[in-house]
Amino acid sequence: MFAPRCGLESLKPYSVEEIQWPVRLDANENPTDLPPAIKTKVMEKLAVLPFNRYPEMSAISLKSTLAAGFGLKAANVLVGNGSSEILEALCHAFGGAGRSIVYPSPSFSMYGIYAKLADSQSVPVALNADYTLDADKLLAAAKEAAAVVILLCNPNNPTGMVMPLEQIEYIVAGTNSLVVVDEAYHEFYGKTAVNLLRKYQNVAIARTFSKAYSLAAARVGYLLTNEEIARTIGKVLLPYSVNALTLATAEIVYGLRQEFAGGLAVNSRERERMAAVLSALDGVTVYPSQTNFLLVKSENIAAMVAKLSARGIGIRDFSTAPGLTNCIRISVGTPEENKAVLEAVTA
Ligand SMILES: *Cc1c(COP(=O)(O)O)cnc(C)c1O
Repeated sequence: MFAPRCGLESLKPYSVEEIQWPVRLDANENPTDLPPAIKTKVMEKLAVLPFNRYPEMSAISLKSTLAAGFGLKAANVLVGNGSSEILEALCHAFGGAGRSIVYPSPSFSMYGIYAKLADSQSVPVALNADYTLDADKLLAAAKEAAAVVILLCNPNNPTGMVMPLEQIEYIVAGTNSLVVVDEAYHEFYGKTAVNLLRKYQNVAIARTFSKAYSLAAARVGYLLTNEEIARTIGKVLLPYSVNALTLATAEIVYGLRQEFAGGLAVNSRERERMAAVLSALDGVTVYPSQTNFLLVKSENIAAMVAKLSARGIGIRDFSTAPGLTNCIRISVGTPEENKAVLEAVTA
């Protein structure tokens, strides 16, 4: 008789409600499509792309373009179907039965799933009550579990908060585990741990095109690390895993990434405007965010969720998740969408 692999019965499918909200502020996507000038270039390139051919085996063009952007070599870069694919591959490559993967909690909910898929033990380490990280506590947990990987999300999803770079370096310097810094929201923040790659051998940085670069539809992300780690993870990624349409699109978008500066400025202005209004409401706390979303806590979160959904606004409800009691995450939308949010909650 066939039965699922050992351990899978305890894994719940990743489920976010698939409601087509008229206002979609539940997935931290960029609220606007690619800038028209970029989209035209993408379409021109796709028009002449040979659809009958497999993509480049090792995505060398995009890897070289990204490497040049960081003063690294193509051998320091991995690309995947979203950074999700690379993070999962990393856990497969370095995890496995009997190994532990440590990460702060609350953080990106997929980390526990990657660990599980890799047959590894998840070791979530609770953040402080104000969602700052106690680095010594994390290091002690990593040591005790003999962790092979430590996953840090900076800025952190879903809190929106940042770890100082000195704290990340303190962790990297204080452990032999591979420290992965997931910088999915880097472009909204500006600071990066990339320079640690020049000083330490146990670091990897994950980035994605899905958030700031308006490319969630294409599924593309990348990892920067030393050549040996990249080669090891590369064994787990299947050849041709990123399709040629996506590779071509990502290369154009990366080359024209300065076109997103205006949108990023709007995002931060809108985020602060929303935070000011929301935090002035009775019983509401808004956490400081360096991203394109806000974590909002309310003594009466159910009422807030009801007001938003009544107006067709979808948000991510974390109110029953561990460490996130009474919290929701609202992505920053277009100015009109944000206005609708503020009207709904202040009505
Ligand atoms: C969105 C997100 C990702 C990855 O997204 P992909 O679309 O798979 O590139 C990774 N980490 C965090 C924390 C995210 O929020």
